[in-house]
Amino acid sequence: MAETEPRPSNFIRQIIDKDLASGLHESVHTRFPPEPNGYLHIGHAKAICLNFGIAQDYNGTCNLRFDDTNPDKENIDFVNSIKQDVKWLGFTWNGKERYSSDYFDQLYDFAIELIEKGLAYVDFSSPEQVRELRGTLTEAGKNSPYRDTSVQENLTHFEKMKAGEYKEGTCSLRAKIDMSSPFMCMRDPVIYRVKFAHHHQTGDKWCIYPMYDFTHCISDAIEGITHSLCTLEFQDNRRLYDWVIENITIDCVPRQYESSRLNLEYTVLSKRKLIQLVEEEHVQGWDDPRMPTIAGIKRRGYTPASIREFCKRIGVTKMDNMVEMSMLESCIRDELNVSAPRRMAVIDPVKVVIENFPSDENQNEPEWIEAPNHPNDENMGSRKIAFTKEIWIERDDFRESANKKFKRMTLDKGVRLRNAYVIYANRVDKDEQGNITTIFCEYDPQTLGKDPLERKVKGVIHWVSASQGKPAQFNLYDRLFTHPNPASQEDFASTINPDSLVVKNGYVEPSLGNVKVQERFQFERTGYFCADEASKQDTLIFNRTVELRDTWAKIGD
Ligand code: ATP
Ligand code: MG
Repeated sequence: MAETEPRPSNFIRQIIDKDLASGLHESVHTRFPPEPNGYLHIGHAKAICLNFGIAQDYNGTCNLRFDDTNPDKENIDFVNSIKQDVKWLGFTWNGKERYSSDYFDQLYDFAIELIEKGLAYVDFSSPEQVRELRGTLTEAGKNSPYRDTSVQENLTHFEKMKAGEYKEGTCSLRAKIDMSSPFMCMRDPVIYRVKFAHHHQTGDKWCIYPMYDFTHCISDAIEGITHSLCTLEFQDNRRLYDWVIENITIDCVPRQYESSRLNLEYTVLSKRKLIQLVEEEHVQGWDDPRMPTIAGIKRRGYTPASIREFCKRIGVTKMDNMVEMSMLESCIRDELNVSAPRRMAVIDPVKVVIENFPSDENQNEPEWIEAPNHPNDENMGSRKIAFTKEIWIERDDFRESANKKFKRMTLDKGVRLRNAYVIYANRVDKDEQGNITTIFCEYDPQTLGKDPLERKVKGVIHWVSASQGKPAQFNLYDRLFTHPNPASQEDFASTINPDSLVVKNGYVEPSLGNVKVQERFQFERTGYFCADEASKQDTLIFNRTVELRDTWAKIGD
């Protein structure tokens, strides 16, 4: 894997280089701030690689901080899955994981400070009133009738909010900024609201919770974050971020920098939509291998290195764009092409009987043949494959007759069995519907690793011994959606690809009998596969990570 190459520079690294050169900062402190309201997806992987990657490369630190200000939607299972995914991606956070809720006491005190400075007020306007007074993008907002309440009164009201004396939705604490600002987020944003909800970290201690914009910048400052990296939709909110930091008494001045989100074709990257896919059972769970979640991609067979490589290849810019799925696929393909041992598996089997192979009574069977694990890497060693009188081949590797373009086996044309002999078909048996049930062949015993003397044989096919091979289930995945940008559709779930999972039952070579979960292979000619966690000794299950070639690119030719 080309992972030893340095991560490429980008505009954020240029800013950091400048800040270090000018002495503004002595070291770099970043953070990854997920909200524990869902599983992480490949878009988060981009943010993880950016934040942890910068900390690594500049000898700085990166905190993992749960942005947990929405207790209704968050829970400890999500917290745990997120920790697991970050670790799996190969990153280590600085010290213990942190929670915005660790700072609820301090946040409360900073809110008091704003009130005391006349920069925050408790607003009892109804939600409709607040909406009405906010104005629009083209029209300035109007001041709330509560905007000029005295400091003392505001302090009392805020204390009562905290004490649980006001119902949800009856009041909120708002920053007093500018109702005519061109930035909507500066029109007296709500910074605290009443919410009687149990919190996974703070229990029932609080019935008021701070809003994201107030919480995030202060948490960054408390942790000494130097560069607070986020996505472009927070560009306007940077004004509010800076306003809060300027107006409270705190030493550290973190700066926020925005870069584009990852958008990936044929999938959705929004926790809300991913939750819908799980809850409506369009998929089999958060770790369904078709999901763009880290858990799903992992189960599909992707490696952490391939995801880091993907994040490196897509880079960091300020331009929103849509990344092709083939970008992700080529990362894992490039890695597995080098690292995955070769094996043979027949996914859609038809029986072949080799009539001139010495029969069982002679105790010759099976003939064990040594086969290399990798065509270009001797260090990967070899394994034994069983050649027997009855074998399985892929149904579409045989046609009774075909034109010259068909390179595999016909009644007129022999074919080489990969790692073994050349065989020639004599006749077939069919069932009542006319489907071939058995192909009767002869093999040429002189052709192990050698060309036949008289005839030329071009085609090579894979195969598995019928008596020694192991039955296996193959999960073949396709795009989860038929539309390249499902999120742009009114009902994104209506564009789900009905053929996104095709299950096949076939056979794998005997050496795979004791495969380990997550072990990855190239099944010759059929793709890269990974043993699924539901795989057991007697029910082997393999997930196809990716095909050997980009078949989507071919369609475009
Ligand atoms: P979603 O829209 O999927 O719910 P989010 O932004 O609400 O995502 P958070 O848990 O708040 O999810 O995100 C944690 C960090 O990951 C944030 O810094 C966020 O900007 C970043 N992030 C989330 N989605 C993407 C993405 N698609 N590309 C790049 N970064 C992302
Ligand atoms: Mg968020």
